Amino acid sequence: MTIRVNNPATGEFIEEVKIQSKEEVKQAIKECYEGFNDWSRLDAHERSRLLSKWSDKIQENKNSIAEVMTKENGKPLHESLGEVDYATSYIDWYAEEAKRIYGRTIPANSESKRIIVSHQPIGLVAAITPWNFPAAMMTRKAAPALAAGCTFIVKPAAETPLTAIRIIELAYEAGIPKSAIQYVNGSGRVIGGLFTDSDYIRKITFTGSTPVGKSLIKDSAETMKHVTMELGGHAPLIVAEDADLDFAVNQTIGTKFRNAGQTCVCANRLIIHENIVDAFSAKLKEEVEKLVVGNGMEEGTDIGPIINKKGYEKIVEQVKDAVAKGAEVLVGDKYDEDHENEAYFIHPTVLKHVTDDMDIMHEETFGPVAPITTFKTLEEAVEIANNTEYGLAAYFFTNDYRTGTYLHDHLDFGIVGWNDGGPSAAHAPFGGMKESGLGREGGIEGIEPYLETKYLSIGQL
Ligand code: NAP
Repeated sequence: MTIRVNNPATGEFIEEVKIQSKEEVKQAIKECYEGFNDWSRLDAHERSRLLSKWSDKIQENKNSIAEVMTKENGKPLHESLGEVDYATSYIDWYAEEAKRIYGRTIPANSESKRIIVSHQPIGLVAAITPWNFPAAMMTRKAAPALAAGCTFIVKPAAETPLTAIRIIELAYEAGIPKSAIQYVNGSGRVIGGLFTDSDYIRKITFTGSTPVGKSLIKDSAETMKHVTMELGGHAPLIVAEDADLDFAVNQTIGTKFRNAGQTCVCANRLIIHENIVDAFSAKLKEEVEKLVVGNGMEEGTDIGPIINKKGYEKIVEQVKDAVAKGAEVLVGDKYDEDHENEAYFIHPTVLKHVTDDMDIMHEETFGPVAPITTFKTLEEAVEIANNTEYGLAAYFFTNDYRTGTYLHDHLDFGIVGWNDGGPSAAHAPFGGMKESGLGREGGIEGIEPYLETKYLSIGQL
């Protein structure tokens, strides 16, 4: 059995990938479990050196990895090149953090006692990753796991396994043993079940949709596994009356239309002060009209295809629903469908006069559609923004420190960009509140979920 990987921009066949049988997946899990003894005992400086070599190997192969990524995912080549850098930034960061897993001593309540707290790796970690960032979503998990001394097994998304495979093969070239990191391919449901059932695996780390995340948490309870969940988002982007409009529009384009809007932190609801909504909308329309839709391998492309028909249909439905309920199309609402080759493109779309009864205000869009709604008071802006079960990212634009601090304090989101449409960074804790997930990836917080805390109490000194 194999997965046939096709280019979502053209339908062109790229490569075939073997699907592991259940027995083969179990064997891979066992190998990584047995590898834990050696990998966790390797000194932190050596683990750090190996991670740095891995990062160097990926950078040496940056162009070919980016090309594979664009072919299997569809994103423009310049975005894939950027993602390779973003992916290695996590390896570089955690190569350093490997050497900084400090413990502490606690003053005891008796002269004859000493209390020492230390950390140890939790064991074998299993990861399941999505197709929208096939390199970075994997290294964001593998790097802290390996740095902490855990071993790691990953199942990449069926649409985009090739990038992950290339990157892991480079880990072997860098000297990281196969018993420390492996990949398996196949159905998420089947392999997810094997991961959650396994007594060898101590942690599941997942990036993907909220319903799958919830079922993985439930299934992990049986063996009391640790979990980190990076799930869906429905980011608000608020523009206050005093904001620098050119800058706000420029940042909105980046955060809304990158990866054809198929990102979990993508601005999904533009909440604009009523006094500037016309000026903002006109500027946004002007900039959106310049975006070029096409094959990500072609120079000048800004917006690639939607990953598959299911994703495409969901976006089209949301636009139809909004228009039927009174939204005005400022630009877009234009589609290129090539059913024969399974290639689906949506031209970047801006909708005005969007209201709370429209699906687009409540469901993740995962596409290049920007719905605009308005607010009068900051309280109202916060109420609209927080009116979602998600809590991943939020953005706002203002140069007034009182507006900024008010919005920061009242928005229920794990990542907040103030005059910043691209806050994500390897050195900062990325993650969501509410149904957007559990735990953080990146920063010093990102290695903690791979560590157990142990304290030693020495008596009779
Ligand atoms: P998805 O359906 O949840 O798939 C993600 C991964 O989970 C894939 O590897 C998939 O494997 C696997 N999977 C599917 N069903 C499974 C099951 N029952 N048990 C175990 N694994 C299963 O999500 P998607 O629609 O592809 O990805 C987009 C979602 O990811 C969005 O909701 C987005 O917001 C979220 N996301 C979140 C972040 C973040 O950091 N918070 C980042 C990126 C994306 P198959 O490919 O075999 O189906």
